[in-house]
Amino acid sequence: MTLFPELVSSVLGESIIGRAQKAGYVSVHAHNIRDFANNKHNKVDDTPYGGGFGMLMMAPPIYDCYEFVKNQVKAEMGENIKSKVIYMSPQGKVLTQKKAQELAEYDNLIILCGHYEGIDSRVLEEIVDEEISIGDYVLTGGELPACVLVDSISRLREGVLADKKCYEDESISSGLLEYPQYTRPYEFHGKKVPDVLISGNHAEIDKWRAAKSLEITKQKRPDLLD
Ligand code: SAM
Repeated sequence: MTLFPELVSSVLGESIIGRAQKAGYVSVHAHNIRDFANNKHNKVDDTPYGGGFGMLMMAPPIYDCYEFVKNQVKAEMGENIKSKVIYMSPQGKVLTQKKAQELAEYDNLIILCGHYEGIDSRVLEEIVDEEISIGDYVLTGGELPACVLVDSISRLREGVLADKKCYEDESISSGLLEYPQYTRPYEFHGKKVPDVLISGNHAEIDKWRAAKSLEITKQKRPDLLD
């Protein structure tokens, strides 16, 4: 649910997530909160009570949009699905790979994107199950954070990547950072690919990769080893 649906659809309509949508592995619908404005000028924001800078998104259009989406989900997927309402917010817990894995188990997620100074608290209290932040900085809107969340979850869903191994082996998921990788050409600016990788000895390759993972994690993210 957003005031800028094209922003979300264009980002998530490209590349791997775009292809996953076309193939039916994930399905993303961007709903325009403005379609639920119940006044002459389609107004969806107003000044905050008590004064202060900027505009706040009003509760009624968000609530009506939520009711519409909830009923549509119910009609399409039934009552007994695992679903959750998430508000993208700098006040939420910061997104981690573990959280993405947990959310990938859901059948449906309704994601609310704020904009301007944020959203009237009353509607958040009423509809939101969880707030998620994408980091300790403040952005102009929740659309890019929502795309980050959807991308991190979608690539964990069956069929989206070629194999589970693609994300099980990589940085963070495995508990360590990934070892260095190389592709053709064999020599680039005088630097050759490490001999072990062209040795054909898979036990040795695994050993080398494990050692490199550990070395790189110690160097770049020693906190992960704790
Ligand atoms: N006034 C709000 C506050 O201090 O908590 C910040 C509002 S922010 C300018 C506008 C919207 O951007 C928020 O409602 C939220 O949806 C989104 N947003 C901004 N930073 C974010 C972050 N780090 N993670 C997730 N969403 C964020």
